[in-house]
Amino acid sequence: MSLRMAGVRDMDVLQAIEQTPRAAFLSGVFKDRAYENVPLPISCGQTISQPTVVGLMTQALDVNRRSTVLEIGTGSGYQAAILSRLARRVYTTERHRTLARAAREVLAKLDLTNVTVIAGDGTLGLPDQAPFDRILVTAAAEDPPAPLLAQLRPGGIMVLPVGQSDTVQTLLKVIKQDQGYDYQTLGEVRFVPLLEGMAEDPPE
Ligand code: SAH
Repeated sequence: MSLRMAGVRDMDVLQAIEQTPRAAFLSGVFKDRAYENVPLPISCGQTISQPTVVGLMTQALDVNRRSTVLEIGTGSGYQAAILSRLARRVYTTERHRTLARAAREVLAKLDLTNVTVIAGDGTLGLPDQAPFDRILVTAAAEDPPAPLLAQLRPGGIMVLPVGQSDTVQTLLKVIKQDQGYDYQTLGEVRFVPLLEGMAEDPPE
């Protein structure tokens, strides 16, 4: 199976992915391609990530049953659904209100009640709910946003793609120490850019 071949070995992560029907987060012709290990288009010009990338990022985040997790970039809600099966509580923010609404509906349909979808600018994090044990950013920034570093609990982990948008980016794992941060690079990825501010969605 390609997840294992890509290096996803954590049994809990594999199980969470197996229990989450990717087709539920896709629409139209793309539903039939849910099993393909490729990123696919969702609305608002965004994409649902490739399953192996979702697996590797989730594994690197090292979530456990006690974790409170913040995800930036809800998109379809697929990654948030997987996190919700591993964590105690998941908050996920999305700058497109249309996507946030659709993700909320799918997550409710799947009975995933420990996820809260917030329409908001994720570059600011979620100060009211901070600190977080884990933060996962699923859009690419040039550098780790300072508010997100600040909202990570000491000992906490943040995984995010960094680099210029539209080129190859580096997946970075940041571990917050009592003083300072420890950085590890995990390979190359390609994500849509992390943009500041809310998106102006066209009327539905
Ligand atoms: N995790 C998603 C895929 C993410 S695609 C999934 O599982 O389907 C990246 C998403 O990040 C896009 O939907 C984009 O609109 C969103 N995004 C980009 N900048 C953002 C910001 N500042 N705050 C919140 N969401 C943002």
